[in-house]
Formats: sequence, C-alpha cells, structure tokens
Amino acid sequence: VRTPLIAGNWKMNLDHLQAVAFVQKLHWTLKDAKHEDGSVEVAVFPPFTDLRTVQTLLDADKIPFALGAQDLSPKDSGAYTGDISGAFLAKLDARYVIIGHSERREYHHETDEVVASKVQAALRHGLVPVICVGETAEDLEKYGASAVPVGQLKTALADVPADADIVVAYEPVWAIGSGQAATPDQAQDVCAKLRAVVAESLSADAAERTRVLYGGSVKAANIASFMREPDVDGALVGGASLVVDEFAAIIRYQK
Ligand code: 13P
Repeated sequence: VRTPLIAGNWKMNLDHLQAVAFVQKLHWTLKDAKHEDGSVEVAVFPPFTDLRTVQTLLDADKIPFALGAQDLSPKDSGAYTGDISGAFLAKLDARYVIIGHSERREYHHETDEVVASKVQAALRHGLVPVICVGETAEDLEKYGASAVPVGQLKTALADVPADADIVVAYEPVWAIGSGQAATPDQAQDVCAKLRAVVAESLSADAAERTRVLYGGSVKAANIASFMREPDVDGALVGGASLVVDEFAAIIRYQK
C-alpha cells in the first residue's frame, strides 16, 4: 500500500518570514488531521532561500511535514554560479526535490537529458526525485495525452536502479494554473501508463510502491475525485498550496 502524498509546490512565492507564518498556521489548522497519524504524507517545497528557516521550524516544533526543494544542480560542487547542489539539500534534511517541472523546462530550457542528469544527482545524495512530466495543449492535440509524458519519463529513468525511491508527478501543462484540471479519468489513464513505465524501467516491485501524483489546478473541491482513482497516489499542488485553509482541506480529503 502506498501512503498518499500531498505536496505543496510554492514556486516563487513566500519569503522566509512569510514561510514561518504559513507553516505554523497550516500546522495549527491541521491539528488532529490524518497526516498526524501518518496515513497521509504532507510535503512542502519552498524556495531555496526559505529552506533553512523552514527546516529549523519543522524540527523545533516537531511538525510532521516533509521538506523538499524545487530544483537542484546536476553537478555536486564547483564553478556553477547560482546553482544548488543536492549535497546542500541533503544537509538541510530535505527529503524530496522536484525535477523537470514544466516551468523549468519552459523558462530554463531543461531537456529530458538534463532532467535525467538531475535525477541521478538527487539519487547520489539520497534525495527522492519528484519527476514531473506532462504534455502541452499542443502535444495533447497532436499526440494525445500520454505519449509525451511517457517519453519524458522513459528518458528520466534510463539509468535509475531498480530499487530507487522516486515519485512521479503527472502535470498536464494546460492544466497548470489554468483552473482547468484534467478529469479524474484522464489523470488515471496517464498515471497508469506512467506506472507501467516505472515497471518496465525499474521493476514490478518499484511500480507497486512508487507514488504517482496528479498536478494541475488541484483544489479542495476536486482532490477527492482524483484520489478515488487507483493509480493516483496524491497531488502536486501549486496555487492552492499557498492558501492555508484550502491546502488543509486538500490534505483532509475524504475519498
Ligand atoms: P497549480 O496547482 O497552480 O495549477 O500548479 C500545479 C503545479 O504546477 C504544481 O507543481
């Protein structure tokens, strides 16, 4: 059985002071919610400059949220101005790192090969890569929903060992920030195909335990419909993860 993962990708929002207020409020709001007993895992992905502060807060107040970063360098150290090593993230007790988000692919020209090298970097440092894949509206029209994300995931997993701990996030680009989420059926169909890629590239065992998330306009009103699908194991939430009551309601979803 896979523990559902509800992940909040803050993107470029909340400075480190706002982050403290936000995490504290979310924690208070969730008192006695099911994440406290481990039946749902909650993770937050703040900007790099917030990570140290949020780590200290989670640790000091014993707040059971996992911490993740939004990107990392494919390199471990050296003359790479502006880049962040997975080693630094691991030292901050980050468990996860988002890799290949469509905004990185679009604005930073990250190719499937760059994404694959970042996945390797994450694994070298004991971080769990949250590998994002998804088709644009144009891809959808030309190739259907699954061809592009399946191809992206195959390249990302090319040299990943069979026992690696990974998370896959299916995020149709047309659904991100648009208010137009995929239907649960669409999400299920692609997530099942992505799980099959994990089976093929890693192992049947890995496919059974790997969480496959849906992302793109997830909110309190639609989370349950996604979580009812057998191959959707959680959500990667953008905008709605920045609103305490909304994100808390997503975490408290009832199937
Ligand atoms: P929205 O939830 O704002 O659509 O963003 C989804 C996303 O990109 C999460 O990584």
